[in-house]
Amino acid sequence: MDKLVSLAKRRGFVFQSSEIYGGLGSVWDYGPLGVELKKNIKERWWRSMVHERQDIEGLDAAILMHPKVWEASGHVAGFTDPLVDCKQCKNRFRADDPRIKGTPGQPDAQCPVCGSKGTLTAPRQFNLMFKTFMGPVEEQAAALYLRPETAQGIYVNYLNVLQSSRQKIPFGIAQIGKAFRNEITPGNFIFRTREFEQMEMQFFVKPGSENEWFERWRAERMQWVAALGIRSEKLRWHQHGKDELAHYAKDAYDIEYEFPFGWQEFEGIHNRKLDYLDPKTNERFLPYVVETSAGADRTTLVVLCDAYREEEVGGEEAAEGGDMRVVLKLKPSLAPLKAAVFPLVNKEGMPELAHRIHDDLRRHLKVFYDDGGSIGRRYRRQDEAGTPYGITIDGQSTQDQTVTVRDRDTLKQDRVAAAKLVEYLTQKLAG
Ligand code: ATP
Repeated sequence: MDKLVSLAKRRGFVFQSSEIYGGLGSVWDYGPLGVELKKNIKERWWRSMVHERQDIEGLDAAILMHPKVWEASGHVAGFTDPLVDCKQCKNRFRADDPRIKGTPGQPDAQCPVCGSKGTLTAPRQFNLMFKTFMGPVEEQAAALYLRPETAQGIYVNYLNVLQSSRQKIPFGIAQIGKAFRNEITPGNFIFRTREFEQMEMQFFVKPGSENEWFERWRAERMQWVAALGIRSEKLRWHQHGKDELAHYAKDAYDIEYEFPFGWQEFEGIHNRKLDYLDPKTNERFLPYVVETSAGADRTTLVVLCDAYREEEVGGEEAAEGGDMRVVLKLKPSLAPLKAAVFPLVNKEGMPELAHRIHDDLRRHLKVFYDDGGSIGRRYRRQDEAGTPYGITIDGQSTQDQTVTVRDRDTLKQDRVAAAKLVEYLTQKLAG
């Protein structure tokens, strides 16, 4: 994991937030390549959920909502984690932290950080919602929460969307947006953070059809994840046991990935019956809901972990760039940069031609120009960025207007007419 975190920083995927002031715990910023990668994942999700379907509408609800929403949803009372403190070293843990030995609050409990015995307090419930204030007076009456999930923005707009879009049940509402949780033990890079993005979809169905829709959505979501190029042996389902299910849930499955730190959830599919009351008539007005809830950041982490490889290289490449390489084997359509343009040397008309090709490609694709260092070193940098194609302008190019295109994964090189490059790359990048 450390290697991935340092690559992410070196290549401009993810930076620690406020690093120059010492960093802010478990908050991360996406750099030039990271923002492209995450955006590609979100756009793919949006396309498959909203654009390609007739039965799902998009929504972008505000982060700030009426505080009553969180009372009605049960978050004020119940969106909590059990927290324990170590009286010795002042560290805080979730009571169910697997590193704690013994029972917190009892003399046998041992602090996993300082090792003291009997210093852990009994668990107390800690609400994970961030509080803030609306208006100039910081008083309880003006208190608001930063949403801890995007789903509530969908529920409260259910009737608005239903009526304005003229949809009929079964139909869904999809949303991508920020959520905030004051996690007690965040960590593992962008896996568990205090500010993150969710991609959620609530599909409203008639009672009696919920099981069928639940199975359909489970299949759809696994297919979508597989199409990101994730190795299938690294994916599995986890069905929630009775003790894990929320009181309103009928059934729930997580899609788990085998991260370097173990199998963990990155998307949940839930079958639930909601008790939302119409404030005017006091009638339940929401039907059964199948929810698919994915984290954009966690999915980005899955994609990064799955793409990361260290490989030995042979032949000419080894001589030019060293015989080991780190490469992100990202699916080309997800890669932040689609191609990089390299003049072999900075003379003999090569930079001029390379710039022309770069300018031309830039109108169609996200491409990068690099003329620094040996060609082998430049290839290695783009391997680390996950760029699928390297375009080299060499001596022959200035004679016959052809270039070499190197494939990131096979290292094979094709000679392609410069005028045909857009067509060539567009074909390769489809999918
Ligand atoms: P966990 O048990 O890991 O905290 P959860 O079961 O509370 O997750 P949900 O409330 O179901 O998670 O949220 C749906 C998705 O949102 C998760 O699968 C995950 O991808 C993402 N998510 C939730 N909490 C975080 C977080 N703190 N940081 C990053 N992503 C998160």
